[in-house]
Amino acid sequence: MFVSDCLNVNEKGHLTIGGCDTVELAKRGTPIIVYDENEIRKNCRAFVKSIEENYDGKGRVIYASKSFSCLEMVRICNQENMGLDVVSGGEIYTALKAGFPAERIYFHGNNKSYEELSEALNAGVGRIMVDNLTELETISELAKEKNVKANIILRIKPGIDAHTHDFVKTGQIDSKFGLALETGEAMEAVKHILTVDNIELCGVHCHIGSQIFDIEPFEHAAEVMVKFIADIKSETGYEIKELDLGGGFGIKYKESDKPNPYDSYMKAASKVVKAECKKYGLEVPFIIIEPGRSIAGATAVTLYTVGSVKEIPGIRTYVAIDGGMSDNPRYILYQADYEVVCANKASEERTKKVTVAGKCCESGDLIQEDTMLQEVEAGDIVAVLSTGAYNYSMASNYNKLRKPEVLMVKDGVARTIIKRETYEDLIKNEI
Ligand SMILES: *Cc1c(COP(=O)(O)O)cnc(C)c1O
Repeated sequence: MFVSDCLNVNEKGHLTIGGCDTVELAKRGTPIIVYDENEIRKNCRAFVKSIEENYDGKGRVIYASKSFSCLEMVRICNQENMGLDVVSGGEIYTALKAGFPAERIYFHGNNKSYEELSEALNAGVGRIMVDNLTELETISELAKEKNVKANIILRIKPGIDAHTHDFVKTGQIDSKFGLALETGEAMEAVKHILTVDNIELCGVHCHIGSQIFDIEPFEHAAEVMVKFIADIKSETGYEIKELDLGGGFGIKYKESDKPNPYDSYMKAASKVVKAECKKYGLEVPFIIIEPGRSIAGATAVTLYTVGSVKEIPGIRTYVAIDGGMSDNPRYILYQADYEVVCANKASEERTKKVTVAGKCCESGDLIQEDTMLQEVEAGDIVAVLSTGAYNYSMASNYNKLRKPEVLMVKDGVARTIIKRETYEDLIKNEI
């Protein structure tokens, strides 16, 4: 009935998540973000199973922790036998603090700093995803200094249009990420890398974008990448052993979104990978996938309290909530879609067209424009659905708002996994 299986309506007509009444949870203070642990694990397991089934287990699911990184999320990914995709020293630190094994950490980013690379090598992260040759030189120097070998995966721009928002496309030639295939840049880089000291070229990587519903771009990417591995072999004699096909699987934000089951992406891509490997006489490489949004996104809701309802006759009705771009900047960034439900009137029809506005001092601070909602008034609880990915992780303290509390619920029981910030937290680094 809602965008995610973990959501329901109870006998009081209240929205529930993971068996917990959201109206009760909101009494702890709003805004508050609530995740359903079973739903997170269900998604993890679906991806892990798909690797087992489609590649006989010769592969790894690495959670893109930038979508939602915190100690508890990292622990869950560890328990689910996944790897972790990190993009900063801060995410590495979080992973290590949560006890995540360094050898299953994969370090991404288009401009990793010297310090971050040094920290990564000290920690012994499993792979560093190399974005460019300047970075490669730094890694080589650092590895030499530390007397270690850096295992790297090279990021490639495969030249694929992923049919998604321009800001979340990454595979095309005009992208800040990786090295281009079409121009020969990537092949040149590979030839160079094979001569560089203290570097082991383990694999090649592509990530074509995010919130992609079509299967075809993933098949196309798989085809292009296997051909690249074949070309490397024929030009250098070196056989690449790992192929990272990235993340980007679309999730349900609106009722009208029709995402494919995650397994169908894996099935389709694995068919292509296997067929192309056969064609070129290659062994099927170890496959890595990097889901972020599709693990965390649809597993959470954000609860807000309505402060006021402002009707501008003939124009629009604003419903003002006690959060906004500070906890969810995705609408102001790229007009992201969301479903909005009045949590304490969840069994009623959504009959009124409203614009849900945040409390930050920006006219663009909206959560959703012209969306259908129940008739609401001050004091009602509004739930924004599918806020598990790129919400808390993108939150800021704009207007000196405190980052919200984050709860994890499981089978009707809620626990805090991130405390709400205090006013003291807001000034703790100020002198
Ligand atoms: C962001 C990102 C991901 C995860 O993307 P989702 O759309 O959240 O699945 C995976 N790999 C790379 C390199 C990324 O930048």
